[in-house]
Amino acid sequence: MVDNKSKLKNFSKTRIICTIGPSSYDIQTLKQLIEAGMTVARINLSHGDSSEHKLIINNIRNASKELNRPIPILADLPGPKYRVGDLETDHFICKNNQTIFFDCSDNLNKEIINIWPSGLHKDIKKGATLLIDDGAVELDVITIDKTLIETKVKLGGKISSNKAVVARGFPSMLEYFTAETTKALDFVLSNDIDFVGLSYIRNIDDIKKVKRKIEAKNRSIKIISKIELKTAVDNLKSIIDESDAVMVARGDLGVHLPISEIPSTQKFIIKIANSMGKEVITATQMLESMTENPQPTRAEVTDVHNAVIDGSDAIMLSGETSIGKFPVRSVEFMKEIAEIAEKNINNKNLRKLRFDHVTASNAQNIDEFIAHGAADIAEQLNAKLIVAFTESGSTAARVASYKPSKPVIALSPDPKAHVSLSLRWGVHTIEAKNLSNIEEMFQFAEDMVLNEKLAKKGETIIVVAGLPIGFKGNTNLIRVITIK
Ligand code: ATP
Ligand code: MG
Ligand code: MG
Repeated sequence: MVDNKSKLKNFSKTRIICTIGPSSYDIQTLKQLIEAGMTVARINLSHGDSSEHKLIINNIRNASKELNRPIPILADLPGPKYRVGDLETDHFICKNNQTIFFDCSDNLNKEIINIWPSGLHKDIKKGATLLIDDGAVELDVITIDKTLIETKVKLGGKISSNKAVVARGFPSMLEYFTAETTKALDFVLSNDIDFVGLSYIRNIDDIKKVKRKIEAKNRSIKIISKIELKTAVDNLKSIIDESDAVMVARGDLGVHLPISEIPSTQKFIIKIANSMGKEVITATQMLESMTENPQPTRAEVTDVHNAVIDGSDAIMLSGETSIGKFPVRSVEFMKEIAEIAEKNINNKNLRKLRFDHVTASNAQNIDEFIAHGAADIAEQLNAKLIVAFTESGSTAARVASYKPSKPVIALSPDPKAHVSLSLRWGVHTIEAKNLSNIEEMFQFAEDMVLNEKLAKKGETIIVVAGLPIGFKGNTNLIRVITIK
């Protein structure tokens, strides 16, 4: 159930995703995260086992019920990536210039570190650079002898079990559905999950394969494509088109591209997603130092601010909330930074970016013109807010894609609309009863804003809807109401 009592209290325009792990999966902490501003909870299926994941899902659902605040769940699939196999010890430290052998066969050999699934030896050439754990360890490939890779450590550090192994410039040739990924998607399909995050997607064929499996089970799980490979950046527009949302997954992106290219690539991805009207999430290391410290660095605060200014719909916490010492404080900081950034967004520029894209591709799109007009009129009349009547959520999403400086209140009879709007910048969803005529809708909007104390008598609100009522996705009506 959507909490009608929450009003605009605790409502940031920017959505906050928290990765849930050992530091945060107890109900008490989850409730604190929700109170602090978490809007979507994320589970990374690459870490922990399925009994832990089930427990996390249950706890999120219970915490959310206790607070009467719906929190959709995102689960990330591992995707076709290589990893360090099980080590005999918890981890080991390698030193510069040390020689290390890796075995890429299916035969686990305790003497030599295994890299799985089998295949890396076929993807790379002598001279390649291997990066372990988002580049924390760097190794040069000296020889490749069948499945045995000899390397020399270039940048020493900690190697632990299960950390990702990447060969920069050599994308993995693995099938999208590795055994690990198949198992993870099966878990998603048989559990209460709302969004699936696709790691390591290379092109739309990878996405389509996942969609087919979701459709075969008759589930309506939304697709978030993680942009972390150079090939994904190259195929960005088609990937965005095929996805419900995209994530700038900076951890792996900074491994597959030179790290110095992250800011420009991030800005590029955000801009293209904004112009196409799809949600974009900026993720990884946003407040990284808070994993250990109660205060973020100046640089991190600036990074979060800039990600919001540039047009991120959502920002994400990873290690900060999953294994960090200050999960709740991290969310509180993130919300505080985001709320200041929201006031500094250049709404008009972002609106023009989206509108130029729409008019270039289809000059006659009534839905889009109405949505754009609502955002513009709300600003020109200094309206208090925009009320969007929406079945599936698409009318509200469309209005919000024009980045109005005023909040969008989505009124929907369908609880699924809340899920599909939970990553959308600037929208707050309130459950509405099913209304059958337009005068009733106007009256409902007026009563709702007064009851919820969202606007006072004499103030103006903008109402957006689609007529006839009950048809999904047509937006053709704007009304300006001065509250009586
Ligand atoms: P990705 O590239 O998909 O972001 P990641 O390995 O960087 O994957 P995150 O989801 O960003 O992982 O989480 C950050 C860190 O938190 C992980 O490296 C892992 O050590 C830890 N972590 C996350 N979830 C769990 C969990 N359920 N159990 C234990 N550790 C976890
Ligand atoms: Mg990460
Ligand atoms: Mg990743």
